[in-house]
Amino acid sequence: MMAQFLEIKQGYPDALLFYRMGDFYELFFDDAVAAAEALDIALTKRGKHLGKDIPMCGVPVHAAEGYLLTLIRKGFRVAVCEQMENPAEAKKRGAKSVVRRDVVRLVTPGTLTEESLLDARRHNFLAAFTQVRDEGALAWVDISTGAFRVMPCSAMRLSPELARLAPREVVLPDHILPDLDGIVTESGASPTPLGQAAFDSAGSEKRLKELYEVGSLDAFGTFTRAEVGAMGAIVEYLEITQKGKLPLLRPPVRELSHGTMQIDAATRRNLELTHAMSGGREGSLLSVVDRTVTAGGGRLLERRLSSPSRNLDEIHSRLETVSFLVEQGRMAEDLRSALRKTPDMDRALSRLGLERGGPRDLAAIRSGLGAAIELSEQLANAEALPERLMQAGEQLIGHDELLTLLDEALVAEPPLLARDGGFIAPGYHEELDEARQLRDEGRGVIAGMQAEYAAQTGVSSLKVKHNNVLGYFIETTATHADKMLNPPLSETFIHRQTTANAVRFTTVPLSEMETKIHNAGSRALEIEKRLYSTLTGTILGRAAHIADTARALSEIDLAAGFSDLARAEGWCAPEVDDSRMFEISGGRHPVVETALRKTGEPFIANDCTLSNGNDHAHIWLLTGPNMAGKSTFLRQNALIALLAQTGSFVPAKSAHIGLVSQLFSRVGASDDLARGRSTFMVEMVETAAILNQADDRALVILDEIGRGTATYDGLSIAWATLEHLHETNKSRALFATHYHEMTQLADKLTGVENATIAVKEWEGEVIFLHEVRKGAADRSYGVQVAKLAGLPASVVARANVVLEALEKGEREGSGAKAMIDDLPLFAATPPAPPPTNAEPSKVEEALQDVLPDSLTPREALNLVYELRGLL
Ligand code: ADP
Repeated sequence: MMAQFLEIKQGYPDALLFYRMGDFYELFFDDAVAAAEALDIALTKRGKHLGKDIPMCGVPVHAAEGYLLTLIRKGFRVAVCEQMENPAEAKKRGAKSVVRRDVVRLVTPGTLTEESLLDARRHNFLAAFTQVRDEGALAWVDISTGAFRVMPCSAMRLSPELARLAPREVVLPDHILPDLDGIVTESGASPTPLGQAAFDSAGSEKRLKELYEVGSLDAFGTFTRAEVGAMGAIVEYLEITQKGKLPLLRPPVRELSHGTMQIDAATRRNLELTHAMSGGREGSLLSVVDRTVTAGGGRLLERRLSSPSRNLDEIHSRLETVSFLVEQGRMAEDLRSALRKTPDMDRALSRLGLERGGPRDLAAIRSGLGAAIELSEQLANAEALPERLMQAGEQLIGHDELLTLLDEALVAEPPLLARDGGFIAPGYHEELDEARQLRDEGRGVIAGMQAEYAAQTGVSSLKVKHNNVLGYFIETTATHADKMLNPPLSETFIHRQTTANAVRFTTVPLSEMETKIHNAGSRALEIEKRLYSTLTGTILGRAAHIADTARALSEIDLAAGFSDLARAEGWCAPEVDDSRMFEISGGRHPVVETALRKTGEPFIANDCTLSNGNDHAHIWLLTGPNMAGKSTFLRQNALIALLAQTGSFVPAKSAHIGLVSQLFSRVGASDDLARGRSTFMVEMVETAAILNQADDRALVILDEIGRGTATYDGLSIAWATLEHLHETNKSRALFATHYHEMTQLADKLTGVENATIAVKEWEGEVIFLHEVRKGAADRSYGVQVAKLAGLPASVVARANVVLEALEKGEREGSGAKAMIDDLPLFAATPPAPPPTNAEPSKVEEALQDVLPDSLTPREALNLVYELRGLL
């Protein structure tokens, strides 16, 4: 057996080998050591190899999925090696023959299909990247849904594209892997090297033609050699990992990068589109806008939000659909309740295609198609349906025959596994019904036999039982057994077994009946298995149509979800055109607003106008104290543009947005220690990327750029950056800074306007109004904010003294040195608090006896008037 293990293992040096032995997958040698540690399970040993103990560990087959998931998450790949025959068959070949085993599948992060291993609402992409001379291409596939895409992509653009798609695994030619390893790992995917031959365009073309059974790939579009190579490598890799069983792959679709809004990795992180900074989905934009009720709808939303469109017709068509459903609220609700019943047909289909499915997947197709008909009827009843819904409606029908077949063939709630039978409905197949009847009757007869034998022997406690070793047997206690062990009863009752407190018998009629039941049962099972294959075959024969239906359901779900969101949150339909306008009135930040709702505080809506209708840049320079809401305001405008081009209504009173081609968002140095770069360096690298790429249709959000270095350096960099954006990039931009000096730029550059966030100062405290106004901030209130944060009173007092001196120094033109020399000494004791034994004022007196909890709102208001009168 070890010889067999070692031989198989040789073929999979980079994977852990799950070696099937009965009810366990066993791991040996280094695999065992690694897996035991990763899974936190016991490491044992078994036998010796070259004089040394062989380390071993194992996981039970029935619980293997969970262990697999852990290993894949920890970056392992697992080769699953099964027994290809049972031990009896092996014995036939010779007494010492080892059961034949073979690897049936290589499990890697990008090739999962199991429901329990996948996030239902997320795609699980496998990508491949290659280069042919200067030309690069990226292809990606979700084998759990069959979606297959490709696009031209240079090595430079790889990082943003990976950030958009978030694939789990990226296959690369082994010779370029070392150069791109960092980019792939940073995106969160695991890099997999593959021999260059797999990317060869001629070989790939052949592979793809065979796969799709076409004479030329032209049917799917015109592809570059790199694109063909990347797609071919995906197919090759799937063949390797699935051991020749190819998943259902839809025809490849070519994506063009200028079709979508370009958003790089840093911007995605910064705007928390699909993941919050903390890493989870909670707190992300996706989490607050997701009202979809199906897994497919959830995946479509994530895809759209990750790549908003740049095609006006597409955006208008999406928005028109949402508008229609916003108006037809009742209908949207009905659609949503029908959708709630729709299972994940895409994934069921792919499991069936890979022979990893079960009766529940057949049932999923049945209920999915059933729901589709219901939805198509709802749509058919509507008037003035927008084009997009009409098209979706057309994709929902045409499955009547299949649906009838599945309805008749399947029981209402089939079991998980086909192996045990019991999923074909009675009345569907005559021979099956007969076999089942025979089996069940036999069981009835046996139940009757118990009474018969009890009467015959006079042992009323006698029982007919069943176990896997003896089959059916008659059991009695040792005390009653004597009678039956002796004539005449022993002529009928044949002794089988004596245990500690029972004696077991059989009879000829009992054995005969057992054989009958067994045969009938096996026959029933065999027929069911055959029917399962036929039904699966019928479904797979219509896979493309079913996948179109699933896609239409997702499309309806997404539009209905957006309409629900728009109505519930009071969002408006944005106007998107090819102007260079950016006019938002009453805009809000959807995530901050949701978070504030829990605290009961209102969110203050704000306007933003970045348009002067000509070729000029338009930039708002935003100043204001920390905590005023600058970052929130900046991001909300970026999110509004992004939502509009995703095809959603937006959190504003009105929004007019000229198509945004690229979205950039940067925040000055935040800690990025994990990536081991100096924070300031990161900030500058990212700013450079914007200044090199942003065009006149870009929307740029810069938050406190330059803050990661000394004041004058930082100010100079921020200054020059703004000038470059204005003069060269000519982008629309929002630029928040705490360098007040920069407000002078508004006088010099025509496209720059000052704006600030209002705060009120009251008795030495700042009150944040969160209102954005035109004009520059008067001062920064840093010391007051520090006080709010709980800095010791002595430090706050001292900071005020230093600030005053600095401001005085600046006014009078004396140097910092002189100012520092003049400063009075630091007093560690805080200034004395106001005297407490002073006479209470009239207001204080009046307040003395008030019990706030007992006041009605009206009484409280009256009290305020009264107190005001006492001042
Ligand atoms: P800044 O960037 O100016 O330091 P932030 O944008 O981080 O400020 O906002 C600080 C806090 O103020 C936020 O966490 C939020 O709770 C609150 N806030 C910001 N904008 C608003 C608003 N428009 N309405 C209500 N609260 C707001």
